[in-house]
Amino acid sequence: MGNTLVIGAGGVSSAAVHKMAMNPEIFTKITLASRRKFKCDEIAKSVKERTGVEIATAQVDAMDVGAVVALIKVTGAELLVNLALPYQDLKLMDACLEAGIHYLDTANYEPEDEAKFEYHWQWAYQERFKDAGLTAILGSGFDPGVTSVFATWIKKHKLDTIRQIDVLDCNGGDNGQAFATNFNPEINIREVTADARHWEGGQWVTSPAMSHKVEFDFPGVGKKNMYLMYHEELESLSAHNPEIERARFWMTFGDAYINHVTVLQNIGMTSIEPVVHEGVEIVPLQFLKTVLPDPGDLGPLTKGKTCIGDIITGSKDGVEKTYYIYNICDHEVCYAEVGSQAVSYTTGVPAMIGAAMVLKGVWREPGVWNMEQLDPDAFMEMLNTQGLPWEVHELSGPVEF
Ligand code: NDP
Repeated sequence: MGNTLVIGAGGVSSAAVHKMAMNPEIFTKITLASRRKFKCDEIAKSVKERTGVEIATAQVDAMDVGAVVALIKVTGAELLVNLALPYQDLKLMDACLEAGIHYLDTANYEPEDEAKFEYHWQWAYQERFKDAGLTAILGSGFDPGVTSVFATWIKKHKLDTIRQIDVLDCNGGDNGQAFATNFNPEINIREVTADARHWEGGQWVTSPAMSHKVEFDFPGVGKKNMYLMYHEELESLSAHNPEIERARFWMTFGDAYINHVTVLQNIGMTSIEPVVHEGVEIVPLQFLKTVLPDPGDLGPLTKGKTCIGDIITGSKDGVEKTYYIYNICDHEVCYAEVGSQAVSYTTGVPAMIGAAMVLKGVWREPGVWNMEQLDPDAFMEMLNTQGLPWEVHELSGPVEF
């Protein structure tokens, strides 16, 4: 059905490419390209061993638009799936426009020198994609991604309007390391050290990072502390559902994680301001990434489950109702299937499903779209059949935290 070029060969990419290979009737040709080709070759070897499918590999610098366009032309791809880092989003969108192919990513663009997490840079491509008759899908991971599709599905099938939404992201897994992040450490630490921000009463409310903690009993996991954070889907969800009065994002962290981040922050190791070290300019956070465990290596070490979902309150036929919709995912089950832990899996599988939606022609409207703007039904069905089954339960009332 479709010829796909995947850029980036990290933890998320590995999970996504394995799942693409497991759906050969949709992904008829796959090319995997990244900065370091040997990473692509390692993934290709595992894909061949696990599925029997051969994928092509290539070296490319995603910041070099000309090189990406040339690669697109050589592969004949009709869709580019960007699983590199948020810094590359705009260059890869430029390359797709120049080569005339569709685009999909899992994280919004960020300039390297500022942790901003804003969509306006990518939304500015709306007219160019529309005029070219091409589709760009933004944020097809779990959060953003599935959590936004969950919201649209609830609005389509259970409620008329959404009054408030809380996105709850729990990782109840343990990787046995003193300190390790579950996805790219640089992006992860930029997120957790940024001020918390949520949408309330038509404006953004800011509070210091990690200052608002609540204990919550997660299905399949149990009680965990979760912290109010800013996360990029809050911007698009509130922009595309103007009736939302309050939108918040929560993520669980253990005490050891919080202690490590606090110390690292206090001593300047999480800074993105360059410093001169023995005559060489380095960015402390990038150096920290180099010395921390590679999230891609945590697969065999991680045990436990994730539970990610939304608690949504709104009205149906004038009656207020609250629903909790979520997926529970087991780290060891993911590892057995594709060789990745659940954080890579829960991002890589929705990236594959979003790509399938484009290749099948289900999500093909020309323009730049966030996940909550698209019809949720076919995507929700594929979650159930592709390893991320979801449950929805009505709660007795809105959340009290
Ligand atoms: P990794 O750091 O493991 O992988 C990133 C990959 O991109 C690496 O292979 C890296 O190459 C490659 N890369 C970086 N720069 C370039 C470049 N200039 N040209 C070509 N390749 C490049 O990250 P993850 O797999 O953990 O995360 C991937 C993406 O998924 C990130 O954008 C992250 O924010 C997003 N994400 C989204 C989530 C969601 O739910 N929506 C959740 C988790 C992550 P090299 O190996 O040489 O460094």
